Amino acid sequence: MEFRYLGSSGMQISAITYGNWLTHGSQVENDVATRCVRAALDEGITSFDTADAYANGRAETVLGSALNGVRRESLEVFTKVYWPVGPEPRGKNDTGLSRKHIMEGIDGSLRRLQMDYVDLYQAHRYDTFTPLEETMQAFADVVRAGKALYIGVSEWTAEQIRAGHALATELGISLVSSQPQYSMLWRIIEGEVVPTCEELGIGQIVWSPIAQGVLSGKYTPGQEAPAGSRATDINGGANMIRRWLGDDVLTRVQGLRPVADELGLSMAQLAVAWVLQNSNVSAALIGASRPEQVVENAKAAEVTIPADALRRIDEILGDVVTSDPATVAKSVPSERAI
Ligand code: NDP
Repeated sequence: MEFRYLGSSGMQISAITYGNWLTHGSQVENDVATRCVRAALDEGITSFDTADAYANGRAETVLGSALNGVRRESLEVFTKVYWPVGPEPRGKNDTGLSRKHIMEGIDGSLRRLQMDYVDLYQAHRYDTFTPLEETMQAFADVVRAGKALYIGVSEWTAEQIRAGHALATELGISLVSSQPQYSMLWRIIEGEVVPTCEELGIGQIVWSPIAQGVLSGKYTPGQEAPAGSRATDINGGANMIRRWLGDDVLTRVQGLRPVADELGLSMAQLAVAWVLQNSNVSAALIGASRPEQVVENAKAAEVTIPADALRRIDEILGDVVTSDPATVAKSVPSERAI
């Protein structure tokens, strides 16, 4: 496994990080979830990403159980706060990045994960209603209490990241990561987020590098989705992946197969390797509904894609690639309902 520094921090993370959105506590049974985690560890993956809101807390619980007994120092565990978690009815303060929600959020996450600290605590979205000063002060207090080592953000704009980073620096804590969607098909961060983060020493931990399975090539135009795939998961997955299942995208994606074949890679490996060609990317955050996928995708670490193959990928995908930040508000899936 390849390891990369998380931004300018001294912490290294596995370039392939395993995430459990939509799978643990939801699409897959707990024994499969545990086998996926074991497969990740066997492949040398040491970094794991979850969130309190995934499967309403169950994803953290399942991950915590699966990692139970593994030497804590050998792992980097990331979680997130923003959306509500726990039984209904929810209170007014169960959402967002207020001091109250962050302080209660970290304790709930640590309890479910059965851990004393997380390595990275991330703001799952930007909270336009809470003063950023309040949010960053709360994060600083979480760090000083030893409950998190580093702070990160997810789906923040370049401007929001810059403001958060300035406050974190004043408070003496490290805002080291940004967690955006990034794949061959979704390249919004390249324009502003990546240059800003390069300047500030912030690394990207990128989500859905295979576009939720679409870039594996298993969905073909005009055909039923394969049984058991995310597109058939009525508990939430089908809704999340739908935007990638149009014939225009699927036809272009099939065009990538010869490129992958020539490089001796599966299409999923090509997709994961593609995001890792960006030097600001600290890790590709892969999901998996079965251990074989983890084993296959982990092999994308340390792959170099030649420049002419990168050019061909761009030509093949053409205008189904999204690069305009104005598209984000409309299209980034909200995990809230899951
Ligand atoms: P991916 O793009 O890696 O998609 C993973 C899914 O694709 C798997 O669950 C599986 O679904 C399918 N798949 C994976 N490998 C293969 C393969 N080799 N062949 C065929 N199908 C394959 O990422 P995710 O969308 O799962 O996101 C990864 C992680 O990113 C999440 O777990 C989470 O940690 C993070 N995330 C963060 C968000 C944020 O807002 N910060 C938002 C979304 C995700 P199946 O078998 O069911 O078809």
